[in-house]
Amino acid sequence: MANEYDVVVIGSGTGGYVAAIRAAQLGLTTAVVERAPVLGGTCLNWGCIPTKALLEHAHALKIAQDWKEWGLTIGQASIGLDMSQVQSRKDKIVKGLTGGIEFLFKKNKIDWIKGSGRLGGKGRVEITDGDSKTLTAKKEIIVATGSQPRSVPDITIDRKRIITSDEAINLKEVPKSIAIMGSGAVGVEFASIFRRFGSEVTIIELLPRLVPVEDEAVSAELERSFRKQGIKVLTGTKVTSARAGANGVDLEAQTGEGKAAKISAELLLVATGRGPVTTGLGAEDAGVAMERGYIKVDAQYRTSASGISAVGDVITFDEPGHPQLAHLSSAEGIALAERIAGREFRAINYDQVPGCTYCDPEIGSVGLSEAKARARGFDVAVGVFKFGVLGRAKIAGETEGFVKIVADRKYDEILGVHMIGPRSTELVAEATVALKLECTVEELIRTIHAHPTMSEAVAEAAHATHGAAIHS
Ligand SMILES: Cc1cc2nc3c(=O)[nH]c(=O)nc-3n(C[C@H](O)[C@H](O)[C@H](O)COP(=O)(O)OP(=O)(O)OC[C@H]3O[C@@H](n4cnc5c(N)ncnc54)[C@H](O)[C@@H]3O)c2cc1C
Repeated sequence: MANEYDVVVIGSGTGGYVAAIRAAQLGLTTAVVERAPVLGGTCLNWGCIPTKALLEHAHALKIAQDWKEWGLTIGQASIGLDMSQVQSRKDKIVKGLTGGIEFLFKKNKIDWIKGSGRLGGKGRVEITDGDSKTLTAKKEIIVATGSQPRSVPDITIDRKRIITSDEAINLKEVPKSIAIMGSGAVGVEFASIFRRFGSEVTIIELLPRLVPVEDEAVSAELERSFRKQGIKVLTGTKVTSARAGANGVDLEAQTGEGKAAKISAELLLVATGRGPVTTGLGAEDAGVAMERGYIKVDAQYRTSASGISAVGDVITFDEPGHPQLAHLSSAEGIALAERIAGREFRAINYDQVPGCTYCDPEIGSVGLSEAKARARGFDVAVGVFKFGVLGRAKIAGETEGFVKIVADRKYDEILGVHMIGPRSTELVAEATVALKLECTVEELIRTIHAHPTMSEAVAEAAHATHGAAIHS
């Protein structure tokens, strides 16, 4: 293997591996340094894929538990879960996908350099363990070292009783009870998984509502559904201590009204966010400016050190709040690789990044929430359509939730689409195209939506924005 490349990528997550493939497609010689024994980073190994596999098992269990409604002749009084089969199916899916990246690397002639990468001065990456050597990047080094679960002051994550998502995806047994700190995407997805698997679930959120980045109406609907499913929801509540014992964890918390609360559970899942991975990277020595541990980049992903760029979970802009999403890291990787190869740089519009949360009911959203649109001074028009009256939703037996469109009254432009309910994580793709093409509500109304589909809820929400929903 030669040690000189056009591009050296550190990290093989969805940011790094996609940047590498795009660079190779454009004729650049490319290496990826990855220290984990597998390619694919968080998303494939510990994030998106394993959690969605577990959620699919939860969905299968839901159908089986409702066997009478579905007319299934399962022939067993109690429907259970074989966790070893659940885990082995999940692991098989993960293995297939990570193996797929190895195949794509070979196909695109990308070298996987095994070990930890350290920035070693201009154009150089030192491998500090594994294949000990120094690589040269003639054009650019891409840092895509991602993120890891963030700890919380005064709470010791022992990975047995007090765990992170890394442990939660691999549990061999379903806990009788679990408390979950944090109600972002990771927290609410695990709440849905464990509740359906049979655990007593308590979700504790410091802010006044669940999924705080979503539109307020979505948060309210999720809270209503979670309570109906028997999930205990404590919003506006701060965990003040967590002590792990032989049989479980004892938590002390303070509610918004200043009342003390005690919660006991077999496990505590800390899902309060993820922090950047830069330890041992030598970023500061290489002249890379950092902010709160994140790598600062400009609008074209350049760091402050010449020849070093960064994408994905590890980056921050001048304006804080870079979303940590697999598809965003990939889009950044593609835009960056194209810039390095001398193509036109196609900037990402961060107001048009879709977000999906695969809890039950699912959430999909893109663009401005109603509150944000008002805060930006738009004269806002809103249209809401509930899944409950939709034929396809009734057929699926999933009638909770709605689609909400936020539009600008002046030009009729769609500013945001927020949905909670069946297939929302798929339906949001249509809304994303609509925002990308600066679609008006009228154009969405005139776009014919097939029947019977869940997508009719999007069309009906557009009608509702003009005050003329057909079916409500
Ligand atoms: C439980 C969970 C569920 C999630 N679900 C979703 C979802 O459904 N949809 C979604 O869009 N996002 C989801 N995410 C977020 C998504 O996984 C991340 O946004 C995405 O993986 C970020 O990609 P990345 O390339 O920036 O970093 P990562 O995927 O974190 O990859 C970084 C890689 O760099 C390697 N590395 C780090 N430092 C070095 C070094 N010095 N040398 C060599 N290698 C190094 C690491 O081993 C790792 O493989 C989820 C995350 C979690 C935790």
